[in-house]
Amino acid sequence: MQNDMLVFSASILQDYLDCARRFELRYIIKQAWPAVQVEPIMEYEQHIQRGRLFHHFANQFFSGIPQDAILKNISDKKQQEWFMCLVDFSKTFSSNKHFSELRLFAPLERHKIIAIYDLIMQTSAEKIIIFDWKTAMNRPKSRYIFDKPQSLVYPYVLRKNYEALFPGIQQKPHITMIYWYPEFPNDTLRLDYSDERHVETVPLLKDQLNAINKNIEDNHFPLTNNKAKCKYCPYRSLCDRGVFAGELKDLDQIVPAEEEIEINFLDLPALDLRI
Ligand code: SF4
Repeated sequence: MQNDMLVFSASILQDYLDCARRFELRYIIKQAWPAVQVEPIMEYEQHIQRGRLFHHFANQFFSGIPQDAILKNISDKKQQEWFMCLVDFSKTFSSNKHFSELRLFAPLERHKIIAIYDLIMQTSAEKIIIFDWKTAMNRPKSRYIFDKPQSLVYPYVLRKNYEALFPGIQQKPHITMIYWYPEFPNDTLRLDYSDERHVETVPLLKDQLNAINKNIEDNHFPLTNNKAKCKYCPYRSLCDRGVFAGELKDLDQIVPAEEEIEINFLDLPALDLRI
């Protein structure tokens, strides 16, 4: 396999860091292995669906659809509560220009990196904020989030694209990334992507990509030694790492509930625009 064919995302890097074998099974071999990922399964699926819909409603809102029209289509009480928290939260920022549900690519040496953004907002001539909606029911510690590949990849890719998105912006705008949890609306996680952090990020990403290349060349994909990672991995039985899935209530301590929720908008309900 030509490793140049991989487009790296934060999720792919996270899988690699969690377990090289999982990376191989998921992205190299593309091994299908149906298994319950989290218990109780119904509650987990409801949780995933709620997260998916929240992203959908947030995208509608930031695309200019009136909040009353969106709210009218939300039947779930929790979802209504989350959406109104988002509306209130949005009032704390003034947007010069913003992009909702945007995919950007950036090169890093011979590799390509993709980031899928919930919202990118220019709030002043020299400030850009990346917003990421996290619909987990637990809010992890900031260190845990800031060390994750997403906190490297998203600001890095934006830094490589800001001139195209915001023509006329001054050189090197101040980029901030905000993780916002509708369940904890007043408890945002804010990461400033300073020049110093950018200087640290580039070699970190390069090292991770080079390590992946080396594993691919050597066909070396060891199983993780951290068996806690296996609890939420669908390949548990394939790797002989247990049969039972981990519990939803502990999920965010080990793996975020949604690293990136891939939204297929065609699968989502159409909006009734009658107010
Ligand atoms: S079950 Fe464990 S060892 Fe196997 S791929 Fe998943 S995380 Fe890796």
